[in-house]
Amino acid sequence: MGEIGGFLKIQRVGLPYKDPIERVELEPYKEFVESRSDGELAEQGARCMDCGVPFCHSGCPLGNLIPDFNDLVYHQDWQAAIVRLHATNNFPEFTGRLCPAPCEAACVLEIREGDSVTIKQIELSIIDRAWQEGWVTPEPPQAESGRSVAVVGSGPAGLAAAQQLRRAGHKVVVFERDEAPGGLIRFGVPDFKIEKHVIDRRVQQLIDEGVELRYGVDVGVDISADQLKRDFDAVVLAIGSRVPRNLDVPGRELDGVHFAMEYLYGRNRWVAEQLGPQPPAAAPTDLPKITAEGKHVVVVGGGDTGADCVGNSIREGALGVIQLELLPEPPEHRP
Ligand code: SF4
Repeated sequence: MGEIGGFLKIQRVGLPYKDPIERVELEPYKEFVESRSDGELAEQGARCMDCGVPFCHSGCPLGNLIPDFNDLVYHQDWQAAIVRLHATNNFPEFTGRLCPAPCEAACVLEIREGDSVTIKQIELSIIDRAWQEGWVTPEPPQAESGRSVAVVGSGPAGLAAAQQLRRAGHKVVVFERDEAPGGLIRFGVPDFKIEKHVIDRRVQQLIDEGVELRYGVDVGVDISADQLKRDFDAVVLAIGSRVPRNLDVPGRELDGVHFAMEYLYGRNRWVAEQLGPQPPAAAPTDLPKITAEGKHVVVVGGGDTGADCVGNSIREGALGVIQLELLPEPPEHRP
């Protein structure tokens, strides 16, 4: 476990963010979350109490072994920490950047609001360190099973399924309708939250393990489900959903009113085109260009997607941005 009574002595300290001006003006499409030193992270790991019933386990949708890796970071055993983290999570660099961290809400220390162990930052630091040290290497199967699986969709779920199936010895082909892998984390989430080379290096690991990826293939259009069933022993559907919820109000049909994903997909494609990394297949050229530059923008919705639209609009040079949320502003502290 962490340090006995560590949580009584050591304050929670989260990951620092870049200054807003630097974020928006100097490096608008670089991640704005910065890292901490090993010593500071070890201190944060020391705050974990290794509870008899670690509620963080059930708070985490992946069942991450959180007290274990907190303790390993506390003892500065980073290599063992990544082994423990990878035991339940194929891609900690995605969750460490993007997960809303329900583990922290479930942490017993959160009984004092805002005081939970900084689980997400520890998770991210473990995997970033592992990549830096060269500890993340291909793990191809020891033997081939002789069976084959088609995975439809290359978002995190499809990629995780593909990796696990390949490591079990199956031939795996991933079908992706877009020009690059990653699904929403490539085309929805902006580079200032996850730079796309983070996805590419992980996909390269899958390729080196023997996973095949085919881009620009829309299953159901370019290849039928029957064909997949004939060609493969099993099919995994990991397609997510791109059906937006419409707002049926007067004026919805006017020019300049867009769904968030139409805008975010366009912005992410623009960043890839201008700054890279370039996609492995050709991007569609017939999509409408949506820009917030020089415009007054209203974002309807106060969740992460809305925030991504706000961040992009500001970086593009919108004249003003107003975000509307249906729910009342949350109180500063829990009632
Ligand atoms: S931040 Fe990591 S440990 Fe926490 S819930 Fe998300 S995936 Fe699980």
